Amino acid sequence: MVNRDHITKEMNPELATVNGISVDARIAENVEAFLAAAQAIDASEHLISGYRSVAYQEGLFNSYVQQEMAADPSLSESEAETLVKTYSQPAGASEHQTGLAIDMSTVDALNQSDTTVAKQVQALAPQYGFVLRFPKGKSSSTGVDYEDWHFRYVGKKSAEYMTKHNLTLEEYVALLEERDA
Ligand SMILES: [Zn+2]
Repeated sequence: MVNRDHITKEMNPELATVNGISVDARIAENVEAFLAAAQAIDASEHLISGYRSVAYQEGLFNSYVQQEMAADPSLSESEAETLVKTYSQPAGASEHQTGLAIDMSTVDALNQSDTTVAKQVQALAPQYGFVLRFPKGKSSSTGVDYEDWHFRYVGKKSAEYMTKHNLTLEEYVALLEERDA
């Protein structure tokens, strides 16, 4: 698990490319199959992002902070950072550095996909080992607002369990730790 409470260094996973997007080589087939299934629902489904290094994420996060400060000059840098954290992760806190996360949508903008299509794709994700990582109504658990495009590979069994019990990855990991304690 990687999030703002679990900052990690560069993980340097072995990468493979699916439709021009890099992912952890171990899940390339799952990504391919999930993408094909999503495209069967809506042909415009495509991969937007996969693996991103910690260094790249740092630059991305900082560019968002600069954009927010430019858009609203009354914001201090820390206020802008707080705002950006609702939709982007600081360096070391993004799942994209694992190579196990993908952004996939019909359009290149967050939460702009047709909601019926997004729901259908979300529903079939567990069959391919993925969960929608930042679902609606779970931001108090994940720390991130709803994202219709960000999927995380957790394996088929875990994905099905998490979906059945409506658990985020944070809640699921806490449950496993409790069980093993
Ligand atoms: Zn993402």
